[in-house]
Amino acid sequence: MTGPAPSATARRILTAELLAVGSELTTGETRDANGGELAASLAAAGVAVRRIVALPDRLDLVVAAFLEALAEVDLVVSTGGLGPTPDDLTREALAAAVGEVPTVDPGLEDWLRAMFARRGIPLPAVNLKQAWRIPSAASIPNENGTAPGWWVDRPDGRIAVLLPGPPRELRPMWTEWAMPRLRERGIGDGRVVRVLRTYGIGESSVVETLGEAMFRAANPVVATYARADWLDVRISAVDEVEPGGRTRPAADVVAAAESRIREVLAGYVRAEGEATWGDVVGAVATAQGVTFATTEAGSGGALAGLLSDVPQLVEAVIHPAGAVPDAGAGQDAIADPGGTDAAPSPLIAAAREVARRAGVPVGLAVAVRADGPHTLVRAALIVPWAVAGEEPLLDLRLFAHGSHGRLRAAVAAAAFLAEILQRGPSGTP
Ligand code: AMP
Ligand code: MG
Repeated sequence: MTGPAPSATARRILTAELLAVGSELTTGETRDANGGELAASLAAAGVAVRRIVALPDRLDLVVAAFLEALAEVDLVVSTGGLGPTPDDLTREALAAAVGEVPTVDPGLEDWLRAMFARRGIPLPAVNLKQAWRIPSAASIPNENGTAPGWWVDRPDGRIAVLLPGPPRELRPMWTEWAMPRLRERGIGDGRVVRVLRTYGIGESSVVETLGEAMFRAANPVVATYARADWLDVRISAVDEVEPGGRTRPAADVVAAAESRIREVLAGYVRAEGEATWGDVVGAVATAQGVTFATTEAGSGGALAGLLSDVPQLVEAVIHPAGAVPDAGAGQDAIADPGGTDAAPSPLIAAAREVARRAGVPVGLAVAVRADGPHTLVRAALIVPWAVAGEEPLLDLRLFAHGSHGRLRAAVAAAAFLAEILQRGPSGTP
């Protein structure tokens, strides 16, 4: 680290503002990928993000934004504007906002020169400003680029963190450098957060089933978030001071709400935290000791993409829309998902065929078709314990279309696979 060590001024970081700097954001050429990610990490740490602002590369606007944030919140984090070109002026803006003058830091200059030397080129003059530092800034090392960040301590204990724009550069700087120091400094309100991932139930049903009162309470705060793959129920709480003065720890407040929600939404809670459908399918396949193969048509490979990290997925075949997965020509898989015992449907035949070819006990065949604003998804599953003629089938019409519809169809197929595997031979979960 170059520059002063972060001081230990006692100001707990409870509020923050995020600035995304770059004209590519305000002209719509690039979407801000950083604000949401930083906000999620701060929210999880119990910091209230007052706002996320996108700003063009204009010195006056960026200076004003820093000045306002440094008067209002405990922490301001900027991304972007740390490049070598004249339009990158976040360093200048922060320096002006705090009334300091940047100079070239010899240690940073050496580091930059060494980096360019390794690439076999001399340091371009414009890049020298990436070695700038103001006296109150500590430099944040960047392992993936030429723009170091700045950690700036204000006399009143507020902090400004300046990070470069490219997500792959700033992500490790934030999680491995800045966040640990913020934690040391004292960050957040001690909030405990738990996310229950539900599937197969709508947002309004969740609210009705749990009762509106639960969603209006101040502690714990319970909220739902509809995503393409899950309906998340997020529970967060702080320590509760009870009437007698005793403190009920935040973790207990969350746990009580969690067990109530699990009881009421039994069967719909399929995962926790950041778990993916790949994690869920992988866990049930491990529990049942099976490997599997998939074949899909009309989904653009969405199922294979969703499950690509699952070690038990031995083979994943992708067919174009309209094609019948591995079931011979001239058959319309989507028209007849069931078929009969004597004449299994193309989907059942396809599921059997893909499992046979891959030499695995479980085969899943999925056909997806757009239908106006809807997406039809049908699937057949071969499991070793199912009797011929009683193969598990899926037949759904989703209110979604295009790539979103295909993703939702893949999620439906993965959920179907996970549910049937989880029930196992006994047929009960
Ligand atoms: P900069 O630090 O301004 O030189 O940023 C370099 C590059 O990072 C830009 O050209 C963008 O491609 C990317 N970038 C900057 N800010 C963001 C952002 N908020 N979200 C996603 N990409 C960004
Ligand atoms: Mg820029």
